[in-house]
Amino acid sequence: MKRIILMLAAFMGSAVAMAQLQSPDQFLGYKIGTRYTPHYRIVQYYQHVAKEMPAQVKLEQYGESTEGRPLLLATVGSAENIANIEQVRNNNLRLANAARDRMAPNENGPAIVWLSYNVHGNETSSSEASMMTIYELLNPSNAQSKEWLKNTVVLIDPCLNPDGRDRYVNWYTSVLGKNVNPQPIAREHREPWPGGRSNHYNFDLNRDWAWQSQVESRHRIKKYNEWLPHVHVDFHEQGVNEPYYFAPAAEPFHEVISKWQREFQTMIGRNHAKYFDKNGWLYFTRERFDLFYPSYGDTYPTYSGSIGMTYEQGGIRAGLGIINEDGDTLTLVDRALHHHTTGMSTVEITSQNAARVVKEFRSYFNNAINNPIGEFKSWVIKNDGTDRVTRLKELLDRNQIDWSWANGGNLSGLNYLTGKSESFKAEKGDIVINVNQPKGNFIKVLFERTSKLSDSATYDITAWSVPFAYGLKTYGVANYITAVNKTAPENTATTFTDNAYAYAVKWDGLNSARLLSELLQKGIRVRYAEQPFHIGTEQFEKGTLLVTQAANTGKPVRQALEAAAKSTGTKVFPVASGFVDKGYDFGSDRVRIINAPKVAMLYGENVSSLAMGELWHFFDQQLEYPVTLTSANDFMREGMNKYNVLILADGMYDFFSKKETNEELKAWVRRGGKIIALENAVAQMAKTDWGIKLKEDDDDKKDDDKKADYSLLRKYENRERDWLMNSMPGSIFKVELDHTHPLGFGYPDFYYTLKQDGNIYEYIKEDGWNVGVIKKDNYVSGFTGSVLKEKLKDGLLIGAQDMGRGQVVYLADNPIFRSFWENGKLLLCNAVFLVGQ
Ligand SMILES: [Zn+2]
Repeated sequence: MKRIILMLAAFMGSAVAMAQLQSPDQFLGYKIGTRYTPHYRIVQYYQHVAKEMPAQVKLEQYGESTEGRPLLLATVGSAENIANIEQVRNNNLRLANAARDRMAPNENGPAIVWLSYNVHGNETSSSEASMMTIYELLNPSNAQSKEWLKNTVVLIDPCLNPDGRDRYVNWYTSVLGKNVNPQPIAREHREPWPGGRSNHYNFDLNRDWAWQSQVESRHRIKKYNEWLPHVHVDFHEQGVNEPYYFAPAAEPFHEVISKWQREFQTMIGRNHAKYFDKNGWLYFTRERFDLFYPSYGDTYPTYSGSIGMTYEQGGIRAGLGIINEDGDTLTLVDRALHHHTTGMSTVEITSQNAARVVKEFRSYFNNAINNPIGEFKSWVIKNDGTDRVTRLKELLDRNQIDWSWANGGNLSGLNYLTGKSESFKAEKGDIVINVNQPKGNFIKVLFERTSKLSDSATYDITAWSVPFAYGLKTYGVANYITAVNKTAPENTATTFTDNAYAYAVKWDGLNSARLLSELLQKGIRVRYAEQPFHIGTEQFEKGTLLVTQAANTGKPVRQALEAAAKSTGTKVFPVASGFVDKGYDFGSDRVRIINAPKVAMLYGENVSSLAMGELWHFFDQQLEYPVTLTSANDFMREGMNKYNVLILADGMYDFFSKKETNEELKAWVRRGGKIIALENAVAQMAKTDWGIKLKEDDDDKKDDDKKADYSLLRKYENRERDWLMNSMPGSIFKVELDHTHPLGFGYPDFYYTLKQDGNIYEYIKEDGWNVGVIKKDNYVSGFTGSVLKEKLKDGLLIGAQDMGRGQVVYLADNPIFRSFWENGKLLLCNAVFLVGQ
């Protein structure tokens, strides 16, 4: 008995010893960086920390990834700050003029640092480093961090993209032998398609902060805007031959970025340099990673009042160890240590300047309200009744942008579409945004018609102006609009009658297409009108969907329409007679039957996973219409008999370069197949005999027989500038649209395209339709190299070609780029559902 008690005591003693904060090495049973930690183990470590240090850590799950993994946020601080953490948070919103209670803030609150790890799933050292950092911040024997936490609260998101991270880690672990193979050509350094960088739907989450097309972003940014931290770090990795990059960022900086935001970046960088110098680690600053495109993990926080930064450790696909160009072996141990060092150094320098950090944060938001910069004080977005307006409202709400309904009145402002100042009438139902609000700078950046570049060598697209991306008529106004409404104008709901002859649905956006998708999947016969028609006072444009009782005998038409109208938010017009006042009657053959398309899309090594992912997400989550992802081989072997629509996302497709398969594909089109080719798929078809041709540079030909061409004598030091002349990081062009062709239905006679390459095509001469063309001077906004600007004139970007009983649709640009180019979504639906019916 005595022995048992002793043993029990010993056991309890060890239980007490175990019930203490463990380092990640102790908890996991291996040194960080010597093995990969799967996501569920990272979660367990954070739970352990929260359980052992409840007075100093608050751990919450703010959402779930697409595949159902938990998304976590740990709040770390002194016991005093954590006990009052809701007050700290609310006070911070008051500092940002973003609190609902309008109480005066306490200007002596703690500084707030937010550390974001592993947004790119295969940049794996950062989640490992996050565990070292949270431990060291709380380690009872670390006197320094104890001091920092007195005036600094640290928020840690250990993994923004757990699906991508586990995709990489599971794969890597499955190919690792007994020992690490550091040879760069070894299989373990050759991550297979699509790789772990992106999320489940192959979206790059570090391009999605503003648009929030993905659930991971939506959950996270909701939480982010509840906090508005003062300093935000996004931990990344770059190529294995690069050393380490930290702030200050590279030009171009957007002009809204404040002096303090620049200055503190430099102070942070100098603090990191101190540690890197001491250890002899290489690093660089002020190059490559700019602050411009608003949807990154550094710019989004920057445009929301934070010091937003990206840190980049060399290491993508390095696994546990790889030999780099210098002949050194770069290990995961080193990579994690570097990210840990900059994480701690960020907290240190912030703590050392906490009072200033808070003061500058306060003045950023006071300026946002009292002295907003930019030529416009407000914007009016005309409500054209389409679901693009609904989507815009969602975008504004998700970003905590304050907006109102217009109250009517005569105003004047810059018409975005024409680029000219004019008088206009604001009507009830239009959307008004005044810039004097906490998100003022962010609004300015999202809405600016043209962005001022301090340097044109940027990392990303240079044009994203929301009115063009959403296709909404917008005015920029030089003063505030005070006559506004908070309550929505009344919406007239459809009254469904039992004796309707037919139902009509206007074809004006993604919601109409979603309704069509739902009806087709329920087996309801739907037609579309090729010509506009009137019934009474209501005007119906080309493409209007018609569902008649006559074509759906015995089917629950009314119930199906009512359900679809409700689930998609679409207005349905019951019609009493097939005799229209103007146009073709419903029995005419100008009213075409829509056969439900059977859609396949190719995936695989040479297909852009991002482009394919956007389309997959579009079909799966937005249109809710079945699409089969299949390989080129499987499609050629078995798919041709099963599918009649083939989508070729941006990519390289071998079958175009082989005569036999090229002919097979053509024969399939002639039998009634339809190819929808996008971006580089179009360029490849232009190199063979499909009937579309790339427009060549005229200059190249002319120069051939010249004697001396001095333009060839380029200066070495100008090499980057010379390259820019041919560069096209993403700009907006106006496309003139033939909207009498089904591919243009639902649009006015123009469309704004986001152009990301210099490809433009010759007008199709035979059996084809030049649906979308650029004429002279159709450039709208964004950086376009001088050489390309000249070239992008008088050519085709959107085309349709008849081939036998089938069609080919050419979309030279991505119509649904990053899922935020809302105005192109209908174009894609036209290609899928209407063309060729
Ligand atoms: Zn990255």
